[in-house]
Amino acid sequence: MRRTLSGLLCAGATVPLLLAAAGCRRDPAPPAAARHLVLVTIDTLRADRLGCYGSRDVATPNLDRLAREGALAAEATVHVPLTRPSHASLLTGRLPAEHGLRDNVTPPLAASVPTMAEILRKAGFATGAFVSAVVLSAQSGLGRGFETYDDRLEAGADDARFLNSIQRRGDVTTAAAVSWLEGQRDKRLFAWLHLYDPHDPYEPPEPYASRYVGRPYDGEVAWSDELVGRLDQALERLGLRDDTLLVVTSDHGEGLGEHGESVHGFFVYQSTLRVPLLVRGPGVAAGGRVAATVGTVDLMPTALDMLGVAAPPEARMSGRSLAGALRGGPPPAEAAAYAESLLPLLHYGWSDLRMLREGRWKYIQAPRPELYDLAHDPVEERNLAEEQPARAAALRSALAGRLAHEKEAAVSPDAAAIPPDLLEKLGALGYLGAAAPPPGASTGADPKDKIAEFKVLNRLVREGLLRLRERDYAGSAARLQELRRRGVDSFEVRYYLARALVGLRRHRDAATHFAAAAERLPGYAAAHLGLADARIAVGDLRGALTALQRGRQASPRDPRLPEREAQVWRKLERPVEAVSAHEAAIALAPEDALLRVQLGEAQRDAGRLDEAAASLRAAVALDPRVASYWNALGMVQGARGDFAAAEAAFREAVARDAADASYQYNLGLALLRQDKRADAARAFRRALALDPRFAPARERLAEAGG
Ligand SMILES: [Zn+2]
Repeated sequence: MRRTLSGLLCAGATVPLLLAAAGCRRDPAPPAAARHLVLVTIDTLRADRLGCYGSRDVATPNLDRLAREGALAAEATVHVPLTRPSHASLLTGRLPAEHGLRDNVTPPLAASVPTMAEILRKAGFATGAFVSAVVLSAQSGLGRGFETYDDRLEAGADDARFLNSIQRRGDVTTAAAVSWLEGQRDKRLFAWLHLYDPHDPYEPPEPYASRYVGRPYDGEVAWSDELVGRLDQALERLGLRDDTLLVVTSDHGEGLGEHGESVHGFFVYQSTLRVPLLVRGPGVAAGGRVAATVGTVDLMPTALDMLGVAAPPEARMSGRSLAGALRGGPPPAEAAAYAESLLPLLHYGWSDLRMLREGRWKYIQAPRPELYDLAHDPVEERNLAEEQPARAAALRSALAGRLAHEKEAAVSPDAAAIPPDLLEKLGALGYLGAAAPPPGASTGADPKDKIAEFKVLNRLVREGLLRLRERDYAGSAARLQELRRRGVDSFEVRYYLARALVGLRRHRDAATHFAAAAERLPGYAAAHLGLADARIAVGDLRGALTALQRGRQASPRDPRLPEREAQVWRKLERPVEAVSAHEAAIALAPEDALLRVQLGEAQRDAGRLDEAAASLRAAVALDPRVASYWNALGMVQGARGDFAAAEAAFREAVARDAADASYQYNLGLALLRQDKRADAARAFRRALALDPRFAPARERLAEAGG
């Protein structure tokens, strides 16, 4: 039983439509401002899995305790059931159109949209974020305002265990957050911890795997609860607990088979929209319960309010502060809540879904609209749209008003290329990707009629990608071709198909599909690179140059394009053009030592030996660890006739890799040219010891008199 501030006079659980504490609060004390903010987002967490939301099947003692010590919003809804845009709403207080992120694969959040971290940092807070999934990496732009943005993941870029590995286990992320908290002194703090564990695949660690056999999702929820407990213990240990506003919520729920949806992102039913929202901290009435529908956009205005930090006017938040209600004041008025899913439109050309909820009534705009009475039908089994046309029409018209406003308020992400490899990582997580609707555009099909097909397509994408990773190129190509037969002709399908065909050494076919991919998403440099490489493989160097030059226009900030162009120019024995392309690459990646080595080699080919030496000296200054860079410097110094400098460079190469016979041989040559015959002979002998069949070393050894 949940208790109120004034104890048993008010039984919280029996007063569902009010903030329970409100009616029986004795003397309103001045609101105590919280000093710190700790936000925990547990990805993919359905409210109905927590004990404090009525579950009897999952043990969530830590979250239940938070709900007792603080307040709980019974009907909190997200505005889009996808990780990146939903977190953007949490961290900006804006609806998806207003912050501009509608999908998981996007350019970064526009710089014109203030974030909570930015505002708090300006107000003097130390800010740190610890996230567990690639969709929330710094590329999302959600790191803006965080002094520490820890988005390290466990997997390497080429990890074959791809599907399971592009995430960080929650205990690791939690430990990183705790260690950051331990390192802070004196300042006010804002920490954001993101746990990804309940996201699929569901693989709870022990003892939860055994405890929840056959229910691994529930096991992940129980495990996440333990992690919240660890964080709360750390707050207590560090003496932060009493001054901290601790907020726990989620970015969306999970279908778990309801309405035919296994995971999330496609539909806008309560299974994926309803999330927990728990708030504990100074001034929050213990056992308080907010019954009105609230949105996750309300979090930021609420948190700023409770921290006593004013939002700047440019924040333009759509959410409203719930601080008064949380402190035991009057409950917030019922307000309409909005949510959307553009995924069926963006990726398949089907209809989008828009939802508006007013109290118990929920309307979903779709080719066949839906109306539900959540008070009597919380699992949305009975569509009342035809039985109650007036109510449906009123909600439809309210929604139309919002969508008109959305057009005015819409923010576009700052134009920026989606960084290399991100699409692929996300594709492997089951998101079909970024591009505009496939050519031919919207068929307007009702997503309700497409869920089975969606699952088949999604499975084909996952299997196609996984087999590509496992180098089963024929298996991958077969699945991707099947997707095309089923009418999915997106950037991703073309791009991955091209890569599978490269694996099968069908370079001409690969080039066709790379070209189609590059046309669909011109800003994705890897498609242009793939096209160039496929053309190089069939000897079409001029065609490769065309592809790379187009790529450079569309994706001017990716150094790999001019780098590859320089390599093609060198194959064409055009060192002057190669030098200029290398210089363009270095302008984009000035810290890349290898690019400078390549530039030096191109300059050497062009006969510009002094410039070559300067480039190679810059390369070894940037990364002195690589023996071959020193060797390249020695070669150029030798070509310039500066044998002392050559000797010094070769000695550095030998010191770093004593097992390479050619470095020893080169050192011997530089010594021989300086007439240091005994030293030269020693170097040639070492080269021969490493490679007894090294004939030139034998000849030079004779010359050196050894
Ligand atoms: Zn998520």
